[in-house]
Amino acid sequence: MTPPVLDSIEKQPRAVALLARGLESGRVAHAYAFVGAAGTGRTTAARRFAAALVCAEHGCGTCRACRSVEAGQHPDVHVIAPTPPVTNPRGTKMLRIDAIRELERQASLRPVMAPWKVFIVTDADRMTDDAPQAFLKTLEEPPAHTVMILILERARSLPATVLSRCHVVRFEPRPAEPPAEAGTARALIAEVRDKGIAAVFAKFDRSRPDRAAAEGIVDAWWLWCRDLLLAKAGAPAELLAAPADAAEFAREAETWSMEDIVGAIAACREVREGLEVNVSPRLSLEVLLSRLALRMSDR
Ligand SMILES: [Zn+2]
Repeated sequence: MTPPVLDSIEKQPRAVALLARGLESGRVAHAYAFVGAAGTGRTTAARRFAAALVCAEHGCGTCRACRSVEAGQHPDVHVIAPTPPVTNPRGTKMLRIDAIRELERQASLRPVMAPWKVFIVTDADRMTDDAPQAFLKTLEEPPAHTVMILILERARSLPATVLSRCHVVRFEPRPAEPPAEAGTARALIAEVRDKGIAAVFAKFDRSRPDRAAAEGIVDAWWLWCRDLLLAKAGAPAELLAAPADAAEFAREAETWSMEDIVGAIAACREVREGLEVNVSPRLSLEVLLSRLALRMSDR
């Protein structure tokens, strides 16, 4: 039987079946590589799989353990993301050897409360040159009760020595149709204009978007801003993600300065990165919506 937390992963039946089989048979690998394009739900799936491992009911989706994994607060589920160089906070974000060493140290400790300790390594294809070698050491002698999940776009971007020790789970590309969130994201922007931002916050209060929903909405806003930027730059309609709405984007773009659009895109990226680690879904949406509203208020 597929655990409810995995059942809620959409449009990745093969990945879900593979993970569910491992859980059911008790043959959980020490390391997984979740391979697929950004936006295919790899990180969400990693979290849900982690929940299935640490939940006493094997992934009920509703208990305290499941909810704390979803909120990024479970003490036995760690997310490791690329960081800028210590000496330059604005530098390129990479997975650095210090982070791998810290992971190794954490992995050597016993789980705090769950039967497993889970490490989710996002953007595993962005390791500094010396990091894979250090990581390999952990993979070769995996500490007991430890599961590592590497999230990456292409299998080839990791050295074969590392990849060969991972159980590869592939994530299918999403179909080209715009996601349902695109409509939600646009409706929310219209609502901010009509009723003000407080009304939309009250709505989040009622709907309590979870992490996956928040990620979908942030991605949709990001795409919306990108189309706005293209429209502002006078790009042909077919370059837009939503070519049918080219005229609408052109009108919208007139009310935005280039600087504000670029700022809005940066805000989307920042909030999306926050969501990948620990920031609460609702807080992320509110922060981003506030920042977007600020930029469109002088319309
Ligand atoms: Zn549970």
